[in-house]
Amino acid sequence: MNEQTSLQPNSEAKFAVPPPTLMTIPVEGSAKLFPVRRIYCVGRNYAAHAVEMGHDPSKEPPFFFQKNPDNIILAGADFPYPSKSSDVHFEAELVIALGKGGSNIPQAEALDHVFGYAVGLDMTRRDLQGEAKDLRRPWEVGKAFESSAPCGNIVPAAKIGHPTRGEIWLDVDGERRQTGDLNQLIWKTPEIIAYLSGLFILAPGDLIFSGTPSGVGAVERGQTMRLHVDGVGDLEVRVV
Ligand code: MN
Repeated sequence: MNEQTSLQPNSEAKFAVPPPTLMTIPVEGSAKLFPVRRIYCVGRNYAAHAVEMGHDPSKEPPFFFQKNPDNIILAGADFPYPSKSSDVHFEAELVIALGKGGSNIPQAEALDHVFGYAVGLDMTRRDLQGEAKDLRRPWEVGKAFESSAPCGNIVPAAKIGHPTRGEIWLDVDGERRQTGDLNQLIWKTPEIIAYLSGLFILAPGDLIFSGTPSGVGAVERGQTMRLHVDGVGDLEVRVV
């Protein structure tokens, strides 16, 4: 949790216990902060990644899981290797940041709900996620752990538009490990928002991690991950 960019609700005295800190992410080129309400993640949204995880990439309905707002670590922060795992994977992703919410949002109006985009990492305890899959248990211990959501600054759509193509890649210690193109997303941004808003009431401050291209793999302490999305930016995160 980054102290400089955290905001506390006022009137702390009325709370029986200390209130949770609101997670905020800097907005590129602005003094304003993006307040994070919920984090949704799309599973298997690039065909080549679905195949590498042993699944059929045909266009079945998207599925979602969640992380917690305070799982985010901001640009410049290190990623602490988590407990209870010895197989921690990187997943480089385009992150969609919502400026407006709603239910049953039509695809044609979905992009009006996007405030901006960021580059992010869906860090995964792959061993614990694998156990959960085998046992038909939920994925939280594999996906929603402390510091599991490194996220770069939010870049407003007003500046960059809505990226639909362009490279997404990730290097570990300067070696290319993941490569893809946003045009390979199975479910595109408007479809994700339309589908998700039929399941949940979306709101300003929601983030959506849109899925990762193929090439996911393990990192070790001491390694540095660098990821890039064309038109959005870069993020460098060291594993400690
Ligand atoms: Mn992912």
